[in-house]
Amino acid sequence: MIVRPLSLFLFLITLSCFNPTHETTKAVLVIHGGAGWISKESVSDSMEKKYTETLGEALIKGRAVIKQGGSSLDAVQLTIEHLEDSPLFNAGKGSVFTYNETNEMDSAIMDGASGSAGAASGITTIKNPIQVARAVLDHSVHVFLSGLGAEEFAIEQGLEEVDPSYFFTQKNYDRLKEVKVSTTMPTQEKLGTVGAVAIDKNGNLAAGTSTGGMTNKRYGRIGDVPVIGAGTYAENGVCGISATGHGEFFIRNVVAHDIAARIKYASHSIEKAAREVISELKEKGGAGGVIGLDSQGHVVMPFNTPGMFRGYISLDGSPVVAMYAED
Ligand code: ASP
Repeated sequence: MIVRPLSLFLFLITLSCFNPTHETTKAVLVIHGGAGWISKESVSDSMEKKYTETLGEALIKGRAVIKQGGSSLDAVQLTIEHLEDSPLFNAGKGSVFTYNETNEMDSAIMDGASGSAGAASGITTIKNPIQVARAVLDHSVHVFLSGLGAEEFAIEQGLEEVDPSYFFTQKNYDRLKEVKVSTTMPTQEKLGTVGAVAIDKNGNLAAGTSTGGMTNKRYGRIGDVPVIGAGTYAENGVCGISATGHGEFFIRNVVAHDIAARIKYASHSIEKAAREVISELKEKGGAGGVIGLDSQGHVVMPFNTPGMFRGYISLDGSPVVAMYAED
């Protein structure tokens, strides 16, 4: 793979000025860095710059795979690894804490061409949880591994192990302390999960998602991200979807597959299907959003929270990145 100096490209990143539903926009890669209570007032200019740069870098890295004729599955994995390595997002390095002050990560990846999927939950010592999901997809007869079994498998596969302290960030620890005094799950969070959906030159779709879950979650809690059809889904000819939001609602409403089913069985456009599912979710009390691509590469990024870190890139265009509802 050609590694290009990313800084040369960063000035090309466009922030804002687009309609978040993107009825007609086409792309080869779309990403999110989590939905939630993200507003102009809550994000400083310097943080806005960091989010924009990191999301732009991830888009350029992932798109390079597609440009070189690589698979959408590889593009999704590489894009997510980049976001996992950043402390800005709630995945990998920046994962939030459980009530017990541990970091337990979930991940999933799905190949729309073969229908194969890999998922992992309760990861505490593998640097890039998306690699565990990918290894399950590629090298296991199973779809979903959890806890110690998943980590043992990851180590057998040669994935990089880290001390759990690698996942410590002061901001997430402080946030845990704040919400611990409450007996309920925090409802107005900047969620920060990461996800990617890509379509390659052969028209193959893939989707992946990675998360630290929700601050103050009970240890052992598994969210929607690794539940295939809830937080992550891809099917060639239909769509690829990655979700972010309050996982329990996404599981109960099988959000990613519901969007796919509306496209497949009711002939809805991806724009209509995704927008309606996310708006119905809000009526049920579920906060969050999704990103997706259909089989023609049409982009959707609807959300029902004040903001969602998100962006997309076409084969030859500049990265487009946004975070607020009004962008
Ligand atoms: N969906 C994730 C979970 O519930 C959280 C998020 O999207 O930030 O684990």
